Amino acid sequence: MTSILYKAINIHNLNKREILHLLDTKESDKLFSAADKVRKEHVGDKVHLRALIEFSNYCKQNCFYCGLRRDNSKITRYRLKPQEIISLAKNAANYGYKTIVLQSGEDLYYTIDKMSKIISEIKKFDVAITLSIGEKTFEEYKAYRKAGADRYLLRIETTDEALYNKLDPGMSLQNRMICLDNIKKLGYEVGSGIIVGLPGQTLESIAKDIIYLKSIHVDMAGIGPFIYHPNTPIEKPEGNPFELSLKVMAILRLLMPDINIPATTAMETLNPNGRLIALQCGANVVMPNATQTEYRKHYEIYPGKICIGDSPKHCRFCIDSKIKSINRTVAEDKGCHFRSGFYNFVQNDK
Ligand code: SAH
Ligand code: SF4
Repeated sequence: MTSILYKAINIHNLNKREILHLLDTKESDKLFSAADKVRKEHVGDKVHLRALIEFSNYCKQNCFYCGLRRDNSKITRYRLKPQEIISLAKNAANYGYKTIVLQSGEDLYYTIDKMSKIISEIKKFDVAITLSIGEKTFEEYKAYRKAGADRYLLRIETTDEALYNKLDPGMSLQNRMICLDNIKKLGYEVGSGIIVGLPGQTLESIAKDIIYLKSIHVDMAGIGPFIYHPNTPIEKPEGNPFELSLKVMAILRLLMPDINIPATTAMETLNPNGRLIALQCGANVVMPNATQTEYRKHYEIYPGKICIGDSPKHCRFCIDSKIKSINRTVAEDKGCHFRSGFYNFVQNDK
């Protein structure tokens, strides 16, 4: 363990066997404090806030793990009008957010024209824009980039092809990878990540996911613990993937010391202090909800989501005091990822 951590801290590279060792370690505390140290050294104590606007819960896809899936007839569907999205973004900018994340299911209502207009209007508020709206064609990604989108968040979910095919019917791992490649080619900052704790997922496959995320040089990596949703066909797994998610996040910090890593909402859903804990195990980003209160409960990717009764204003100031409570401060810049020289080699042996 000590020699693996020494290697990770100093050369930011591990092979699959070493990653597996860390994923399986009982000495999580050592891993977490190493990740915290590397985070402090490379990206500092500032925490970047990203205002999350969940603008539509319609989705044409049918991912087995997700409550927004097309076949979930128990969900109340909603979609915000372009003007509503723009005014939520304006409010968020007024609360001091420097990045707006626009997230939705894969909703065909938002055509290239509608989406481009939304993006270019929001750009007027001098914010960075992240899109998280799923798989699109190269031309669509290009149009959104041209309209002003800066970043794109598309989790690979899992690189285990058999698991992917089982859980994402009608989709393919290969196309997801092509999308990420196109996003990168178009000059977006690339965000990706995985779900940890999916039924049938192995530590071996998670180790491969970590190697994949490093190999594509993500600018941001978001790790979501799997949370079971009863209105989905997936089986309910045993146990709580919170600690394993933290380990994955910490390893990513060690291997990619200067990227952005969010303390995800799903982590806080599984543990009341999940985001603050994550911020002390390698994370440097939080994505508070900036959707108006009435819609939050319907964006039910998984049940038990935090803050569903709160307003955008409440969430903005609540997170501020939480961050201060661990002696960290909110960053005042856009929090772009500036690549340093750690990406020259990827070790991919056993
Ligand atoms: N439709 C877009 C964005 C919305 S879904 C997309 O799929 O990219 C955002 C993320 O929610 C997904 O990438 C997935 O990783 C996560 N997610 C879905 N169901 C989940 C669950 N049950 N538990 C934890 N995370 C989940
Ligand atoms: Fe749709 Fe995204 Fe949920 Fe899949 S994960 S069903 S693409 S919202």
